[in-house]
Amino acid sequence: MDASDRMRQLVDTLNEWARLYYEEDAPVVADAEYDRLYDELRRLEASEGYSLDDSPTHRVGGALQKKFEQSAHILRLYSLDKCQTVEEFSDWCGRLVKQLGYLPALTCEYKFDGLTLNLLYEDGALVKATTRGDGVVGEVVTAQVQTIKRLPRRIKYKGRIEIQGEGILRLSNLAKYNLTADEPLKNARNGAAGAIRNLDPSVTASRGLSFMAYNIGYSDMPFGSQTEMRAFLKAEGFEVEGDFEVADSVSAALAFADRTEQARPTLDYLIDGVVFKVNSASVRDVLGFTEKFPKWAVAYKFKADEMTTRLIGVEWQVSRSAKLNPIAIMEPVDIGGVTVSRATLNNYGDILKKKVRVGDRVFVRRSNDVIPEITGVAEQVDGAEAIAKPTVCPVCGSPVKEVGAFLYCTGEDCAPRRVAQLDHFACKDALDIDGFSEKTAELLYNERHITDAVKLLNLTAEDMLGLDGFGDKKIGNLISAIAAAKRTTLDRFIFALGIDGIGKKTAKDLVKRFKTLDKLSIATIEQLTDVDGIGAVLAANVRAYFDDPANMKMIDAMLASGIEFQQTAPSEGVFKGMRVVLTGSLPTYKRGEATQLIESNGGEVTSSVSKNVDFVLAGADPGSKLNKAHKLGVKVIDEPTFKRMLGLE
Ligand SMILES: [Zn+2]
Repeated sequence: MDASDRMRQLVDTLNEWARLYYEEDAPVVADAEYDRLYDELRRLEASEGYSLDDSPTHRVGGALQKKFEQSAHILRLYSLDKCQTVEEFSDWCGRLVKQLGYLPALTCEYKFDGLTLNLLYEDGALVKATTRGDGVVGEVVTAQVQTIKRLPRRIKYKGRIEIQGEGILRLSNLAKYNLTADEPLKNARNGAAGAIRNLDPSVTASRGLSFMAYNIGYSDMPFGSQTEMRAFLKAEGFEVEGDFEVADSVSAALAFADRTEQARPTLDYLIDGVVFKVNSASVRDVLGFTEKFPKWAVAYKFKADEMTTRLIGVEWQVSRSAKLNPIAIMEPVDIGGVTVSRATLNNYGDILKKKVRVGDRVFVRRSNDVIPEITGVAEQVDGAEAIAKPTVCPVCGSPVKEVGAFLYCTGEDCAPRRVAQLDHFACKDALDIDGFSEKTAELLYNERHITDAVKLLNLTAEDMLGLDGFGDKKIGNLISAIAAAKRTTLDRFIFALGIDGIGKKTAKDLVKRFKTLDKLSIATIEQLTDVDGIGAVLAANVRAYFDDPANMKMIDAMLASGIEFQQTAPSEGVFKGMRVVLTGSLPTYKRGEATQLIESNGGEVTSSVSKNVDFVLAGADPGSKLNKAHKLGVKVIDEPTFKRMLGLE
């Protein structure tokens, strides 16, 4: 294909994708895939020296939909120049230095992933809200935007002013909405865009959107800098979220980008990068604009976390709680530098809801620390087939039971379930049997019929003789590790039981409230739901567990094997009543060891930094928590100081 044919093809494809994205709010490809073709088109236009009239490179944003009234912005909303690598960003900074003779101070902020909005206030009242549209003219969505709860209807400033920001859907609200929605939303960005560009404002209201303000367009009153704008937006009551910093070097700006990328999976909203802007308004005036972008701002985009690929099959895995979990097998796809070919489909109910079929093209999302997930169908493909609901367990052949959205294997001795239970029972946060792994569990289950925790607790050296890979020394180690693990704490034991939904934190809270196993085992639903973090579902799980005579018999047998409970978390000690946050990796202590030291000395370890935290114990590569601690003025200590507090050094 010659260059002009390819150019025509790229323009047509990109225009169709953009139409589906902007006009229908129904994207069929991930942003990264659009960007790849767009970049190819730009390169081609540059090398050929011309572009087609309808090329998307002439446009800013999307075409306008006729159903909405249209309105011109007072000031044009430019899109942002973008870069994706350290080199590209350094080049961009280099251009500033070339033009100015120095690197000006840059503001660093989050790049929210939603729908850009422009709000016009006059005489202190919100008079009009528009989408960005093509940057010059947008769609009037005032009624829709007015359903956003925390948006100020009136502000103190009485002049004419355009407030700009992103209409977004918080991930917690997306999850809440999808729980009961007939048509689940594929992602938060389209959830937000589709809600705002809906003619019926009650639809907008039902999704619970937020407006994150970050810029001021036209204003009667001059602003000297981005910092001033941000302070103004905050003072007027707009939601102004996300870290914000003024960087005076390339490395400081890049450090902000790094920290933000690390914090990204923990945020309750989507961001796809950070935005750097020259802070000073007078310096911006010197720099000016290109045809499409301000020269004083750039978006630094993170690696893609979503792509599309084809679903080619589904495997069902049996979990510890006997659930059959659907695992999607996909054509391998590169997501942000990692090849992904398996992803979770969550549960059978979710498959039906998302209408996913084998053969369809699907969206796959991946974030740092969770399994990739299929979030929805990108394109229904002819000949695709419905995902069959298993009627028997694919491992043990027992009948499958359907409860709500989930399928369960009813086989008592389903191998993967038993192995996962043993592994859980012995894991770090449960009984912590040193040197025991899932492999050990599998071996003991398959070769020695160690099918449950009671048998594991009563394991003898003779039982293990001749086991592959186990010499005398290794056998001795495991037997003494089991003996040592029997001196445990009640909360570890409760966590080890593997009651559905009871994590280690909840196990601790249960012990705090009920003190003994006897009292917990007879607690009523009312008493259980009284405990922080326990709702009706968890309470019912706990009750059902202790109501099952087989479980009670098993607990008796475990205790008979010599389990002893040590006192949990004494309230005395150097950290009495203190709340501590751990971040980064410490030079000598593992996270679990530091936690235990804090708890056994009366302290409590929590996960997020707030003003109520007494100190942060920080190691190498601390991430965003350290930043937050500095911002809130929370004390930060290192490991040597920590040891001194404990009198260990
Ligand atoms: Zn089974």
